[in-house]
Amino acid sequence: MCAADKDRGLADVAGALPAALSGQDVDMRVLLPAYPQVWPHVEAGDTVFEENLFGGPVRVRPARAGDLQLLLLDAPHLYDRPGGPYLDESGTDWHDNPQRFAALGYLAARLAAEGAAGWHPQVVHCHDWQAGLAPIYLRDMGLSDHVKSVLTIHNVAFHGLFPRELRAPLRLPIWADHLGGAEFWGQLSMLKAGIVYADRVTTVSPTYAAELLTPEFGMGMEGILQTRAADLAGILNGIDLNAWNPQTDPAITPFTSHEDKAANRAALEAEFGLEPGEGPLAVVVSRLTGQKGLDILPDALGPFLERGGRLALLGAGDPALEVRWRSLAERHPGVGVHIGYDEAMSHRVIAGGDAILVPSRFEPCGLTQLYGLRYGTIPVVARTGGLADTVIDSNDAALKAGVATGVQFSPVTVDAVSRALIRLCDLHADKNIWTQLVRNAMRHPVGWDSSAATYATLYQGLV
Ligand code: ADP
Repeated sequence: MCAADKDRGLADVAGALPAALSGQDVDMRVLLPAYPQVWPHVEAGDTVFEENLFGGPVRVRPARAGDLQLLLLDAPHLYDRPGGPYLDESGTDWHDNPQRFAALGYLAARLAAEGAAGWHPQVVHCHDWQAGLAPIYLRDMGLSDHVKSVLTIHNVAFHGLFPRELRAPLRLPIWADHLGGAEFWGQLSMLKAGIVYADRVTTVSPTYAAELLTPEFGMGMEGILQTRAADLAGILNGIDLNAWNPQTDPAITPFTSHEDKAANRAALEAEFGLEPGEGPLAVVVSRLTGQKGLDILPDALGPFLERGGRLALLGAGDPALEVRWRSLAERHPGVGVHIGYDEAMSHRVIAGGDAILVPSRFEPCGLTQLYGLRYGTIPVVARTGGLADTVIDSNDAALKAGVATGVQFSPVTVDAVSRALIRLCDLHADKNIWTQLVRNAMRHPVGWDSSAATYATLYQGLV
């Protein structure tokens, strides 16, 4: 597995999937850059792979994080620096991101060729643009008959573009530089490279797999993805059932059923400065971006707040949205906002809420609605991507069949969100229905078992 933690969602998957696959007889290592944050996990021993790769030496060091077996690319000239994995401290892309992530793909291929301490992978599983060049290097090294590749698209919005002039310096073959290859509107794209040259392409939900083939969601990659449609599958992400277990979660007052949530709700109201009330307490845990629909949610809240609903939001991101949400909280006693990134608080927020709102314009899979299901916090979601695949709308048929777990709405407009929130109030006001919803949600399988088995079958089919 060849991974880079684009964001928390991808990092969660890169961490959880190998553990889930170990139960499927898949022996996986996670290859990732040795960012300063991962050094504490490093074990003794290393292999010098290259004396000079894009400007400096590269070693591969084995490491462990819990049960996870890592192979860290120790290349100080590329990865040992302050700031984030992709952006410097001022929020600008690192100027050498092409070298940094070409190195990841290149070394994935070299490791596939040479192995690491007796471990010889048969499949290189690449995640997103950061690892998208690995399939090209595999082919160019003449390995693609023996070592197969899979690309998983977690978010097609990020293309990993770089200037064509870097092709030769990055050791990329000329045969990949054309319209049907890695070339993308006059530049080269690491994501497109992966889409074209990987043996299989997956994404993180069946609905997003279908959406990716359309201009509305494909972000310019729909054409090339259509050529791979036969090799494209959507496999849902799961969540870590130990980290997200309402009975053992150290961040909250443990609970087993809807009735037991009261202590967490009261704590959340106090933490976010909200008066207790009759209406549902809705929560949001999210990056604050347009993708997540959090620019329109403020305008959709009026009728919900009038009916006694309250909202607690934990998020960070777009500075203009941060200002907007802060000022909303100042004006409305029913809205409490914490701007920042805080994992323990995210557990308290999801445990204490009655409902979790995810009004995303697109959502490849989404994790917070899965945490919501697990914690009996009813998801109210846009009918898109993985949200459509994981939440069963409380329509009449689903309520009669006793299978509903949440509320879906479409499209992502102020009107539709506003109506979904009114439906939420109605469902919450009916004690029998609400109890049934929470029970269904908490029983809904959200772990990795079934998806890990699907990945294992995919790998086996390739080798
Ligand atoms: P994306 O990867 O697009 O941001 P996901 O729903 O797939 O969306 O994953 C987001 C992850 O980041 C979840 O684990 C969520 O709990 C976490 N998260 C997002 N914002 C915050 C925050 N402000 N504080 C703590 N955790 C957050």
